[in-house]
Amino acid sequence: MTAANAYAAQSKTSQLAPFNFERREPGPHDVQIEILYCGICHSDIHQVRDEWGGSIYPMVPGHEIVGRITSIGAEVKNFKVGELAGIGCFVDSCRTCPNCLANEEQYCDNGMTGTYNGRDKEGNPTYGGYSTQIVVDEKYTLHVSENLPIEGVGPLLCAGITTYSPLRHWNIGKGHKVAIVGLGGLGHMGVKFAASFGAEVTVLSTSTSKKNDALALGADHFAVTKDADTMKSLQGSFDFILNTVSAQHDYNDYLNLLNLNGTMVVVGVPPQPSIVGAFNLIGKRRSLAGSLIGGIKQTQEMLDYCAEHGIVSDVEVIKADYINEAYERILKSDVKYRFVIDIASMK
Ligand code: NAP
Ligand code: ZN
Ligand code: ZN
Repeated sequence: MTAANAYAAQSKTSQLAPFNFERREPGPHDVQIEILYCGICHSDIHQVRDEWGGSIYPMVPGHEIVGRITSIGAEVKNFKVGELAGIGCFVDSCRTCPNCLANEEQYCDNGMTGTYNGRDKEGNPTYGGYSTQIVVDEKYTLHVSENLPIEGVGPLLCAGITTYSPLRHWNIGKGHKVAIVGLGGLGHMGVKFAASFGAEVTVLSTSTSKKNDALALGADHFAVTKDADTMKSLQGSFDFILNTVSAQHDYNDYLNLLNLNGTMVVVGVPPQPSIVGAFNLIGKRRSLAGSLIGGIKQTQEMLDYCAEHGIVSDVEVIKADYINEAYERILKSDVKYRFVIDIASMK
């Protein structure tokens, strides 16, 4: 067993605070990683505060993990000690259902094992990346390039793949008019990927303050959703909308912005549902869809694409004792554009 220092929430109303626990000894197929950086995803806040239900405490959040391998099990084939490695949102799945066999482990019929707030096959709670160490089967471990600025890599493991995957699934590229709704952690990665794939990108934001950033990230246009005239003028203008909004909102407002055969993919997970009007779908044969992170194979493909194209997340690196304040800033949409914890500050 290896002692790990961490930050944990003890209940849905408590602040994150220092916590110690032990990681298992690496088994034959495991890699042990000394964590260097971990991103803060809005899903961490939803789960720490039990906004989706079923949260397990104490909870050590964090599923945007990058670090260096310090030891490997005897049977490990694809990783070496000293290499950089990444861990995303899940650390296991059944490996036998059709979705696991199709490299879509995130949709495992028997339920993937979340990196945190989950239970492993022995029923023990899983603890995430707000910690100094993690031990994971190599099958769920990603290769990370030495050529990218390492602070910006962690967020690729969730915000990156969650936006890359639907853009690839719907074959978005040149000739497509794409809107990204919400310029936060997911949204800013969505802008980078959609622009890199050749689409014409519009950012739809609640805040005028993010306009210059949106254009610098690669967007062609920027519009403020609180302005009724702007929203009216945008009706029917997009082929594809990636909706990353984390709080309750009305899907109908955005569905109306789709052109004929357009699709809105929801990746944001507000705790409250939105009622969808049939007329907003049938009028232009529109589709409303959802997408959950991405499988291990595609996550590696995304990381390799980022290494090739020099894409990372724009981050604000923080020390562990700033996590609670970072949460409050995220809730105010005051994040540019991902907080990343320097795990050295937990030692
Ligand atoms: P984030 O950094 O907080 O960004 C969310 C953005 O949504 C904000 O920056 C803001 O953008 C916009 N927003 C917030 N409240 C809004 C409101 N009331 N109305 C309209 N827009 C609003 O969060 P994130 O980490 O990107 O995560 C976004 C959501 O995706 C969360 O619900 C998270 O749980 C979910 N998620 C899903 C997956 C998946 O696999 N599907 C993976 C990761 C995360 P503006 O300031 O530009 O308006
Ligand atoms: Zn996440
Ligand atoms: Zn499965």
